[in-house]
Amino acid sequence: MDYQVLAELLFPQVTDTPEMLEERFPARNAPEGAVITRMAPSPTGFVHLGNLVQGLTSERMAHQSGGVLFLRVEDTDAKREVPGAVEVLIDTLKHYGISFDEGATHDGDAGNYGPYRQRQRAGIYHVYAKKLVSEGQAYPCFCTEEQLAAMREMQEANKETTGYYGKYAMWRDRSLEEIQAELAAGHPWVLRFKSMGSIENQFKFDDLVKGKLTITENNVDHVLLKSDGIPTYHFAHAVDDHLMRTTHVVRGDEWLPTLPFHIQLFKALGFKLPKYVHIGPLMKMDGTSKRKLSKRKDPELALTFYKAEGFPVKAVYEYIMTILNSNFEDWRRANPDASADTFKFSPKKLNPAGSLFDYAKLTDVSKNVISKMTAEEVYGLLVEWAKEFDPDFGAKLEADPAYATAILAIGRGGKKPRKDLATWKEAKPYMGFFYDEYLDAADFGDKFGKETVLDALNRFLAVFDIADDANTWFDKVKAITTDMGFTTDMKAYKADPTAFPGNVADISTMLRIAVTGKTNSPDLYTVMQILGYERTVARIKAAKETLN
Ligand code: GLU
Repeated sequence: MDYQVLAELLFPQVTDTPEMLEERFPARNAPEGAVITRMAPSPTGFVHLGNLVQGLTSERMAHQSGGVLFLRVEDTDAKREVPGAVEVLIDTLKHYGISFDEGATHDGDAGNYGPYRQRQRAGIYHVYAKKLVSEGQAYPCFCTEEQLAAMREMQEANKETTGYYGKYAMWRDRSLEEIQAELAAGHPWVLRFKSMGSIENQFKFDDLVKGKLTITENNVDHVLLKSDGIPTYHFAHAVDDHLMRTTHVVRGDEWLPTLPFHIQLFKALGFKLPKYVHIGPLMKMDGTSKRKLSKRKDPELALTFYKAEGFPVKAVYEYIMTILNSNFEDWRRANPDASADTFKFSPKKLNPAGSLFDYAKLTDVSKNVISKMTAEEVYGLLVEWAKEFDPDFGAKLEADPAYATAILAIGRGGKKPRKDLATWKEAKPYMGFFYDEYLDAADFGDKFGKETVLDALNRFLAVFDIADDANTWFDKVKAITTDMGFTTDMKAYKADPTAFPGNVADISTMLRIAVTGKTNSPDLYTVMQILGYERTVARIKAAKETLN
């Protein structure tokens, strides 16, 4: 067979050569050791935690080494494409601190190695397809769906490995005449790789996460171009990562089974193989066993979930770092105030079996992150969240920024800041009582009789002075306590609770319920200071009403 003739027959329109493409996309001028890597997602519209893990890993590897991170869109499956998905992807990743140096953008492409959307690269793939055909390394296959299905059935019945290989590779050795006849009849065809591999052969391979792997050669004649001339993932991966001068491929380990084919393909094309970083799936505990996070079962897989819950971006980022690099937490303890991007990230520290996602741990990390923010920072982020997810609350916060910031400043600063909030969603339950419309009606329970509660409230109203400092204020509460026969001696009370009608904490709780509608709140003195004299008194009076 004259492969040159076949190549012309299949790709008459291709006039460019691989050499021309090499010239058009020259080696990058990158410093020694710089990692050139990419994200290559399909625009399905669903951006998930796995994307973020892959994105952060690539981003850190690229930018920590003075390299390049680019965005390539894998839009080869038009059926799965959702309009606007690329924009959603770019915006979501940007929101989490992942910015691309080049690649697909909102309004096109930026960079010298494009186009960065695979459907626009059909002509480029065809240059290499033609080359492979001309070398006898690829051939057209005219099998119909029915023929392939029948083949699979037979293989299954014979308990053989299914697939298009060896004696099952029906079009591998057909004559030029047979191919010409099919083409003349207008029958559709796909381009297949002619595998020279054998499953008898194994070789060693080093993956940056998985370590040393023993790989069995591929013997399947996989499809390179589909019948519409659009490449499969495998072919596009090889051509694009070569021409875009990718040095490291960071991707999910669901691609490991086809790695033998990818290695073979790079070799057949005469391309240098990039380094591979195969990331394990995100796992979670389900009862006592681990399982993969699932799109169907786990809302926390979607990145929109974190936004809606109101986890600050910084917290999600910190948390992902914690699960990706086992030494991040120690580093964080030693460098509490350092920016996370000064941490030396290493793909080698990734757990080869996949990282365990733990919601409680994320919450802890987030509490920590929020506790270190200034009140102004918290205010800004909370308002941004509330405007989208709780507009009524957002409007209240915005109506009086100084008031809201004073509330958010409670317990902030100092060596041991309070860790009240893990998410912005928790802010309203935490501080809503500061706004009259969100204040719950006082409910004093039945631990003490109405008369006792009224007595305490009246006594407080009689002495309350907004100008008091915290100590004076508390002395007054203690005086009320003893005047009512309650005790301020908590030890004595614990030793014999029957000896007293109650203690100083009970009196505080009565005041707290009257002023905040809750049994739990930030420091009551500070709460009253922020509410001011009039509102505090009005609330206590209103609470008294509920007792009548
Ligand atoms: N679209 C593929 C994925 O998201 C890309 C894999 C790759 O990075 O090569 O799994």
